[in-house]
Amino acid sequence: MKFELEESLRGAPDEKLLEDLRRSAKTLGRETITMAEYDEVGKAHSSTIQRRFGSWPKALKQAGLQQSRSKIGISDDELFENIKSLWINLGRQPRYVEVKVPNSIFSAGTYENRFGSWSKALGRFVEWVNSDSSEQSKVSIEEQSTVDATSQISVEKRRTRREISDRQRFRILVRDGFRCKSCGASPLIQLGVELHVDHILPWSKGGETTDDNLESKCKQCNLGKGNAFNV
Ligand SMILES: [Zn+2]
Repeated sequence: MKFELEESLRGAPDEKLLEDLRRSAKTLGRETITMAEYDEVGKAHSSTIQRRFGSWPKALKQAGLQQSRSKIGISDDELFENIKSLWINLGRQPRYVEVKVPNSIFSAGTYENRFGSWSKALGRFVEWVNSDSSEQSKVSIEEQSTVDATSQISVEKRRTRREISDRQRFRILVRDGFRCKSCGASPLIQLGVELHVDHILPWSKGGETTDDNLESKCKQCNLGKGNAFNV
């Protein structure tokens, strides 16, 4: 690959900007592109384009691109994943007016079209969060063999898997108000705080991956724990 400086398109003619818009969409293999996506792969900044053409959709139209991604191709899972990200970033339930670019991949209108209204979409999202794969893992029982000191083999039946699913993690973070249960640190208040969701009674000690045996801990508090069962 040739080493070259990135071309600045700030003062470029309209046609150059539209050309870069088309090139960027093509890079992603799409007929359209969002502002957030363009900022990843485009040579100009999306706000430059927005200013030049009046709005993002107008720029897309002039470039001969589609206004938005085909709604048919978007799965409910994608829509719910997006709500989850929004919720985590805000640390609370996202409001209707907050469901827009660049924070949200999809617009509030997309949710209205799919579910009837934003509040209905939230209702379905809650069902989705509560119906995660840990339910399935409760059905499939894992067997764990352990050899104890007297070399007797005891087979422990476990109700849950060790892994915490994304949806379960999210449930716990919401329940704990995005705060560390030990010291109260929260990424919403302090920059750089990293929250982990971990077993209270370690899985290796027989603790199950159930909501009541999970809690949010900041990285700092979690590091000191290891496998020791802190009271
Ligand atoms: Zn902490």
